[in-house]
Amino acid sequence: MKNLAILGSTGSIGSSALEIVAAHSDRFRVTALTGNHNLDLLADQVRRFSPLRVAVPDEERAARLKERLKDTGTEILFGIAGLVACASHDEADMVISAIVGSAGLIPTLAAIEAGKDVALANKETLVAAGPLIMERVRRRNVHLLPVDSEHSAIFQSLQGHRKGDVRRLILTASGGPFREMPLDRMREVTPAAALVHPNWHMGKKITIDSATMMNKGLEVIEARWLFDLPAEKIDVHIHPQSVVHSMVEYIDGAVIAQMGIPDMKTPIAYALCCPERIPLDLPPLDLCAMGKLTFLEVDPRRFPCLGLAYEALRRGGTAPAVLNAANEVAVECFLRGEITFMDIPTIIRLTLERHEAVPIQKLEAVLEADRWGRETAAMISSTAKVEGL
Ligand code: NAD
Ligand code: MG
Repeated sequence: MKNLAILGSTGSIGSSALEIVAAHSDRFRVTALTGNHNLDLLADQVRRFSPLRVAVPDEERAARLKERLKDTGTEILFGIAGLVACASHDEADMVISAIVGSAGLIPTLAAIEAGKDVALANKETLVAAGPLIMERVRRRNVHLLPVDSEHSAIFQSLQGHRKGDVRRLILTASGGPFREMPLDRMREVTPAAALVHPNWHMGKKITIDSATMMNKGLEVIEARWLFDLPAEKIDVHIHPQSVVHSMVEYIDGAVIAQMGIPDMKTPIAYALCCPERIPLDLPPLDLCAMGKLTFLEVDPRRFPCLGLAYEALRRGGTAPAVLNAANEVAVECFLRGEITFMDIPTIIRLTLERHEAVPIQKLEAVLEADRWGRETAAMISSTAKVEGL
């Protein structure tokens, strides 16, 4: 029996993880859950999975949850301390890190410090604090298992091979809903249009990141740390069908890819059980029905966010944390209708340009860069709102 703490259980990844738990109740038990705004769903999940504890970010919400769950034995916690307690309590064997954004950083680090294996969906943690996280993973001798479908594909394609034989990683990207839209119309993109992803059903922030391709930029940085390879060895191909989830090219020219239908349950289950595979109730991949798989280069004019992520990685230190913070702010502003779609990369670029990166030996440097990046991006966004950029 594997005991799981699920951080961000009410989200898209968290809910998929709970579906796997429900289908394999002989293998998994839930010891902690955390959520945020959706208290109805969180309360339902607590009744269904009876965790020992549950946490939400603020006290007022915790009080409301307590009232609703007073007939259960579940302990209700709040704030960073509550999230950290859920991430690090003794009973958990593994933590699924599925909070969105840099809010996931401190609880994920707490899980690693407590010696837990972590199934990582929260890519922003590795983007903001990659070197620090990987150093703690080594020091605490825990496993950091990728949930992100591209990284899971690479992880699977690396099994049984020598890392020294890798020539490059090829991350695939769907290209999102605006891959073929005339460039001069990209400014008119509305939040509603950007929230419709052609292949995947995900949370709002990652769906916008997929449309700008910042998601792929964040994944390049995530891959750099997870697989310990320099940016020059990490390429991106657009692959609209989202069937090949990513590939590894070896020095002899062999390319190993992992394929499947676009459903996050496959990579989540692999992170929970690898090297074992467990049966999942998913339709099979029907390649004949698909007919063809296509691959294209990324157009940097359409997707400037990808180049910005490579640039942040090249600058190193706190630059990726600032990139991530500026992106989170710009995406929120776009979703509120305050800025245009193509203002997102401009705000990130202007924020990065103002930043002097420093090395990140300590968590405080990351938190300070995150704070500075948010503040600066918010200031630039308010200028965009009033005057345009
Ligand atoms: P989501 O928006 O559906 O869910 C986010 C979860 O985080 C919710 O449970 C929410 O309550 C919680 N949360 C949000 N803000 C919080 C805060 N400030 N403090 C504490 N909890 C908070 O997001 P998602 O699509 O499930 O994505 C989660 C993470 O997984 C992201 O980092 C995303 O990049 C990554 N990811 C998602 C997918 C996917 O298919 N959805 C695929 C790959 C990676
Ligand atoms: Mg992904």
